[in-house]
Amino acid sequence: MSFDCRHCGACCAYAASWPAFIGEGDGADIPDDLIDFEHGRMRCHANRCAAMVGEIGVATRCSVYADRPLVCREFQSGSEDCIMVRRSFDLGAA
Ligand code: SF4
Ligand code: SF4
Repeated sequence: MSFDCRHCGACCAYAASWPAFIGEGDGADIPDDLIDFEHGRMRCHANRCAAMVGEIGVATRCSVYADRPLVCREFQSGSEDCIMVRRSFDLGAA
């Protein structure tokens, strides 16, 4: 099972602690104003990543997609975590 992330975006707004940098060079090309240097992760407004554009569950995109953190690249559409996050935003599991 997988979902079209362009109509979701839930995992980009679930927890400020999620989009954290995990290795050397991770996030290197992301603009400074989108980075929370103190915590080593993406800047968030509440739980929503500052790089996300659009409306959750309708149409979203990552404004730094080509340079997004490793953790974002590894997050799998259709995984248990994906479904859990989608449910937290009242988005369906199928
Ligand atoms: S929660 Fe799942 S479907 Fe939604 S954007 Fe993230 S990976 Fe894609
Ligand atoms: S960097 Fe992009 S993919 Fe990662 S949480 Fe932020 S908006 Fe989502």
